[in-house]
This record gives sequence, structure tokens and C-alpha cells, in this order.
Amino acid sequence: MDFNYDVIVIGAGHAGNEAACASANMGSKTLLITMDMNKIGQMSCNPAVGGIAKGQIVREIDALGGQMGIVTDRSAIQFRMLNRSKGPAMWSPRSQSDRHRFIEEWIKTMSETPNLYIWQDTVTQLIFDKNTITGLKTALGVVMKAKSVVLTAGTFLGGLMHFGKNQLNGGRISEPASYGLTEQLKEIGFTSDRMKTGTPCRIDGRTIDFSKMTEQIGENDFHKFSFLEDVTRDLKQMSCHITYTNEQTHEELRKGLEFSPLYNGQIQSIGPRYCPSIETKIITFADKTAHQLFLEPEGVDSNEYYLNGFSSSLPLQTQINAIHTISGLENHN
Ligand SMILES: Cc1cc2nc3c(=O)[nH]c(=O)nc-3n(C[C@H](O)[C@H](O)[C@H](O)COP(=O)(O)OP(=O)(O)OC[C@H]3O[C@@H](n4cnc5c(N)ncnc54)[C@H](O)[C@@H]3O)c2cc1C
Repeated sequence: MDFNYDVIVIGAGHAGNEAACASANMGSKTLLITMDMNKIGQMSCNPAVGGIAKGQIVREIDALGGQMGIVTDRSAIQFRMLNRSKGPAMWSPRSQSDRHRFIEEWIKTMSETPNLYIWQDTVTQLIFDKNTITGLKTALGVVMKAKSVVLTAGTFLGGLMHFGKNQLNGGRISEPASYGLTEQLKEIGFTSDRMKTGTPCRIDGRTIDFSKMTEQIGENDFHKFSFLEDVTRDLKQMSCHITYTNEQTHEELRKGLEFSPLYNGQIQSIGPRYCPSIETKIITFADKTAHQLFLEPEGVDSNEYYLNGFSSSLPLQTQINAIHTISGLENHN
């Protein structure tokens, strides 16, 4: 085989998929290398796209000929325009996607893109000629050459996951981390740092009492991400549901704080401003007696619900005890 490409993209997440399609559509012989071809476009946290600021970016990607808006519309199970109380410049499209359909749509899009090839493997080494990249080496021992290499490895480079005091190496849940590339990049002069993010537990929908929650129905008007008329939102639309934490929930969470990797020094890195953990919220906003939570469906054929607003690194049992105090989740599994 001739492993010689114009462009090689490392990592098939949101960024890598878009980069690979853009490169191939512009006529470059492009290879997308990723650890697991069945997880192309896998959403690391909740299966949602857009929201404030990010929704505008997705529409800009669409206007520039990108794929993300199209894939999102085709896999959307709820669509809302946030910030409607403000002027149109502030409106923010946000969709809840079917997690599996999102991956399927990406795979279909890639398969239909000329000049684009996919290789399932892990990149272990970048190859340089002085300070110019010329190729890479993979875990299977394959050496590939390219004029340009795009690195979109997401949270995988040296990734470490915290569950209370338990630590596991990993790029995200059930997927291995990637080692060696950060060290190489540092050697040639890049600086690196670590950030942290978090995710909430998922709830079995069969154990949720939705009658105790407020239903949030999606909007079935003309809105979508893509400006292309033949791109439509066809999947069954599903509701989200709103509930709240209460003082008893906060009390249960406080009992586990000494085991929180965020507060006992186990996690040293800082987090981005989006999506603070529930333990951060009860400390930063100690005067608040309730925090809003959203139960978001993960797909049309799934019982899985994402508990938006309850991201946490607290031990499992602390999280379970706290969740049992929440209206509608008393019997959750
Ligand atoms: C628990 C968690 C919660 C998060 N919550 C949010 C959130 O609420 N909002 C938000 O905007 N973002 C969140 N993120 C960040 C999320 O990672 C990004 O938003 C988004 O997924 C980044 O896309 P990406 O394409 O850069 O990388 P990713 O989606 O992470 O994709 C990286 C890809 O690179 C591949 N890869 C990595 N290293 C190699 C290698 N050496 N060789 C071959 N393939 C490789 C991986 O297999 C993967 O397919 C969260 C991440 C995690 C882990």
C-alpha cells in the first residue's frame, strides 16, 4: 500500500471530521486516522450541539460548506432557539441529537466524500524533518507520509479520569488515552497544560417519574442549523424534563466533599467556564437552595437520560444518595 497523503488528520471527533471533509472536498488526498471507526463523531458528554456562542459557530461552519450542521439536523431529536427574549443577534440554536444516529450520519457523510480515506489505528509518533512534519507512525507499526498533519486528539492526550478517589487512564469513558505525542510536541518547542472537564451520571428512563417534572417540548418550527433546503429534521422529536436539587440534595453532596478530587487536591488542572460540577455550584453559590436540572434523552431507541446540571467527580455512592433526594428521581437506577 502507498501510505502517502496530502493531508492526514489524527482523530475523528467534531474537529477532525470537519477538517478531513474540508481537506478532501478541496481536492487533497486525505487520510483520517482514528482509534475506533465505530465511534466516528462520538459525543464525549451530552449528545447536544450548539447553544450560546457554539450555535452561531455551527451555522458559520455550514455557511462555509461544512458538515456539522447537516449531520446535527439529520440526527436532531429536539431543537430549541435559546435567548428568544433578546434580539435576533443573540438567538442561539441548540439541538439534542440521537447519539447513535449522529455517529451514523457522520460515517455516511465520510463514506460519500471523494478523496477521503479512513484508517483505524492509534498514532504513536510524529515524524519531523528538522521542525517540519513529514509523516507519522502508528501503533500497528505503519509509517505514513503527508505534506500536512492535522492533530485533533480532543481530550485523549495523556487523559486521566477521576471517579471519587479512583483514577483510570482514558481519553473518555471506555476509551484509551493516547501517549507520546504531547512529549514529542514539547520537545520541539510547544508548551502544554492540562484542563479538566466533567460529566454527570446517566439515568435509566424507566425509573424516572416524569409526572413530577416540568416537560420542555422542543420547537417544531422552521429552525435548523443548515441553510441547505434539502437538509431536514426528520427524526421523532422528544421532550426534555426539568427538575431541581434541594437542600437535602446539597446536604448529601456536602457529605462527600472530602472525597471530591476537585477539592482534595487530586485534580490540579482548571476547568473551562461551561458546565461547572454540582459540587462547585453548591460551594460557589452556597446561598442557593436549589439548582435547575434537565433530563435529556440520549436517543429515540434508548432508555438513557443525561442529567444535565449534575456533572460530578464525587464518589458513586455519594452521587446515588444525592440523586435519590431529587423530585422524580427517588427510584432511579
Ligand atoms: C467527560 C467530558 C465532558 C465534556 N463536556 C463538554 C461539554 O459539556 N461541552 C463541550 O463543548 N465540550 C465538552 N467536552 C469536550 C469535548 O471533548 C469537546 O467538546 C469535543 O468532543 C472536542 O472535539 P474534538 O474533535 O476536538 O475531539 P474528540 O471528540 O475528543 O475526538 C478526538 C478523537 O481523536 C481520536 N484520537 C485521539 N488520539 C489519537 C491518536 N493518537 N491516534 C488516533 N486517534 C486518536 C479519538 O479516538 C477521538 O476519536 C467534554 C469532554 C469530556 C471527556
